[in-house]
Amino acid sequence: MKNIILFGAPGAGKGTQSTALVEKYNLKHISTGEILRKEMKDKTDLGLKAKDLIENGILVPDEIIIGMIENIISNNKNTNGFIFDGFPRTEQQAVALDQLLEKNGTKIDMLIELSVPDEMVVERLLLRQKLEGRADDNPESIKKRLEVYHTQTVPIAEYYHKQGVHIKIDATGEIKQVTHLLFEKVDAL
Ligand code: AMP
Repeated sequence: MKNIILFGAPGAGKGTQSTALVEKYNLKHISTGEILRKEMKDKTDLGLKAKDLIENGILVPDEIIIGMIENIISNNKNTNGFIFDGFPRTEQQAVALDQLLEKNGTKIDMLIELSVPDEMVVERLLLRQKLEGRADDNPESIKKRLEVYHTQTVPIAEYYHKQGVHIKIDATGEIKQVTHLLFEKVDAL
């Protein structure tokens, strides 16, 4: 079982590249953002609770996210491995993830950071808003999400760096180029 965290700022390409990884390596993709957007669309209690936070670019509380992940891990015991996309986003989530995986006799094998400068992130997210109309891809929310990324999420790369599993790749190029770089890293696992 191989477990990979796809890490990076909003708009770094985590969702797009996850699709390529899932196809090639037959892994189970977990995007907490996608799960939350579905809950919002279905107007569940969780969706209603999360809506304001998400639209303002603020993180949903750790307990909620960790509970969601716990369910998914325990319902997918026979998977080839997981790709975590948009999770963990805080150190508390990272510690909880390590504990959950350990309970299942497994661990994070690699955190791959998709490195993109902030200016490019802003450009990509504004373009995505035109194409997909995501409510949180507006200039104010983008600014907040980047600030949250740098203060709350970036320290996780260091956390996994200490475990010796942090890898960084240049994700400014064409989608296919980035996929190629990613496959090289995952093949080496
Ligand atoms: P994403 O699609 O990953 O960019 O996530 C969109 C929004 O969902 C984020 O800005 C957060 O408000 C919320 N969210 C997604 N994943 C998490 C997480 N792991 N922890 C807390 N909030 C999250």
